[in-house]
Amino acid sequence: MTHCAIAIDGPSGAGKSTLAKAAAKELGFLYVDTGAIYRTVGLAALRRDLSPSDETAVPAMLPELVITAGYGPDGLQHMYLQGEDVTEAIRQHAVSDAASRVSAIPAVRDYLLEMQRRFAAEHDVVMDGRDIGTVVLPDAQVKIFLTAAPEARARRRYDELLARGQEADFETILADVKARDHRDTHRAAAPLRQAPDAVLLDTTQLDLEGSLARLLSIIKEQLPHE
Ligand code: C5P
Repeated sequence: MTHCAIAIDGPSGAGKSTLAKAAAKELGFLYVDTGAIYRTVGLAALRRDLSPSDETAVPAMLPELVITAGYGPDGLQHMYLQGEDVTEAIRQHAVSDAASRVSAIPAVRDYLLEMQRRFAAEHDVVMDGRDIGTVVLPDAQVKIFLTAAPEARARRRYDELLARGQEADFETILADVKARDHRDTHRAAAPLRQAPDAVLLDTTQLDLEGSLARLLSIIKEQLPHE
């Protein structure tokens, strides 16, 4: 039986995970957050005191890793590293940076490719990431490139941190957003780019509700009707 796949790619902070999760719920599909998988590898590197950019040491640790994803009744994707639930731990700031670095190593991308494809072979999925429409699921029925201006993405992140009662500096966050964009779009292995057959959704001027409405209408237009 073939399953339906919706690929959502774009830079960090464009609202991909929130929107992809909401769309998956609406459609009754499984939401797969591929960034969380790269984050788990980044966390494993940090815990072993490896430089996440080390192209020899990071691939050498991969065979020792046991990375699994599981879904709770709430549909939330939990990540496990050697059996430990690291869903919270992978959201730390240091892990975002480590994930971006390990994801530039081709051997890491190859290693995670099969795991991502297996999800799509076994379920109807909404999968978000950087190279889902271009590399992981080039035959996805719907491809969306979700983006927003760097300032809008930094502002959302800034507001989110303040709402959580954490300290934040807008200029630092903006510089961080731009640095990650640069790394994600300039790496040699599967750089972030819009697939030629992806629909562009720019959420700079949209709030969450408006973005979701637009996303769902694109999906409904693109999904093959039986
Ligand atoms: O989306 P998120 O910020 O959680 O992703 C963490 C890092 O993993 C990103 O900086 C990106 O470089 C990398 N990533 C990737 N390919 C994916 C998903 C994430 O390279 N499919």
